Amino acid sequence: MITQELLQKFCAANDYREYIRRPWKVGERVYATNGKYAIRLDSADGHSVEEITGKRANVEKLIAEHVVVSEWGSVPNLPAKIDCWACRGTGKVRLGECEDCDGNGSFWHGNHDYECQNCDGTGWHAVDGGAEQDCSHCLGIGEELCRRENFTKVYNATVDGAFLRVIAQLPNVKVSSGKTATDPIMFEFDGGCGLLMPLRV
Ligand SMILES: [Zn+2]
Ligand SMILES: [Zn+2]
Repeated sequence: MITQELLQKFCAANDYREYIRRPWKVGERVYATNGKYAIRLDSADGHSVEEITGKRANVEKLIAEHVVVSEWGSVPNLPAKIDCWACRGTGKVRLGECEDCDGNGSFWHGNHDYECQNCDGTGWHAVDGGAEQDCSHCLGIGEELCRRENFTKVYNATVDGAFLRVIAQLPNVKVSSGKTATDPIMFEFDGGCGLLMPLRV
């Protein structure tokens, strides 16, 4: 069984799409995605996940559409991890409301709106003792994303090694290519499967 922490790395905790911020359950199965990759667990046992019935990402359809044609292999060797600068590689940040702008991210002066310099217009900034959240810069993974030196080949597809390194933590994981270099690569592990979008390079 995979940990809740690992499962959360497949989500986008700060995304504007609320339905991908945490894993969800449909029947017995658990799903998670951050728009770059998606995972399906065969069983919700041991995971705290909610059943959602409204808008959700159709991971099941994605998996069904991408039939694997090559054989399965192990995850290729990955380049060294590049720690995310925003969370120093932890995937977590402690944020507190910006006291300069009261969390608004901007000020009104006369007829103009000025971006708050203290928080770069976000309304939040890192503080000791603030509420722990997934880092929005790296989607909680703890690595710099989209860095060329971290791009890796899986069969003929080019993928972001940051995501592949998360996939590599799944038990007995195997990867396979899609039909073409631009099709998602599939992965299977003890207790589930998923897919990873390749990069267009
Ligand atoms: Zn980060
Ligand atoms: Zn501010």
